[in-house]
Amino acid sequence: MIKPIIVGNWKLNGNKIFIRNFFQLLNQFLNPYHKKCTTIITPPILYIPLIQKILFSDKKNFFLGSQNVDIHTFGPFTGEVSPCMLTDIGIKHVIIGHSERRFNHKESNTLIAKKFHILKENKLIPILCIGETKEEKINKKTKEICKKQIDIIFDICGAYAFDNSIIAYEPIWAIGSNHSAKPKEAQYISYFIRNYIKSKITHKIKNFFIQYGGSVTDKNAQELILQNDIDGFLVGGASLKIKEFTKIIEIANM
Ligand code: PEP
Repeated sequence: MIKPIIVGNWKLNGNKIFIRNFFQLLNQFLNPYHKKCTTIITPPILYIPLIQKILFSDKKNFFLGSQNVDIHTFGPFTGEVSPCMLTDIGIKHVIIGHSERRFNHKESNTLIAKKFHILKENKLIPILCIGETKEEKINKKTKEICKKQIDIIFDICGAYAFDNSIIAYEPIWAIGSNHSAKPKEAQYISYFIRNYIKSKITHKIKNFFIQYGGSVTDKNAQELILQNDIDGFLVGGASLKIKEFTKIIEIANM
């Protein structure tokens, strides 16, 4: 039985007061639960040291992650965050390829693959977001898009790229829309992704997880997590609501 991984992506949200309230409640909640599932929150990066202070130190299955990384380790790259700096402050997990960065920041598949590569070189765990737009879905291009987003990672990072990594299958049309993919639909593509990756390698892949992301709530989490190839969730909006987020963790723990 695989241990599910629940990631809460806060995006550009939160402040000191919100954080204190949220983590006070999360600290209490995580004590009896979260034995069978791993929880990761990716807050805006500048709040990480504050959260590290608030958190109890014995949270074995809880991690703070980053929403981004640069492809350089140091130097004249204003505004960027380096993989070494993330390691330096105790971060292990990094989201890359989120559709908001692909579209708002014009990040290409090649740039994302370079980010994947530098994360692996620094022993960080990529959470690679892939998925299709609504138009691509209508045109039945979902598999083709996912393949393309996966192939470039293999091209740049080699056959072992996806060992110790996470793919978040996030249909872009489902993100922030209140309309998640149907569980069977998410399962179908997750199964495809897993098998496509297996078909490209000759070794037995280790520590590889597929998450579903796109309007996950405490109402739809149960049916989604029951799908064979969904190993957890990448949660946006609902990760900012402590009651809803803890309910999702509870469901994943069942
Ligand atoms: C996301 O932005 O990755 C996401 C899944 O958001 P939401 O849960 O709000 O759809």
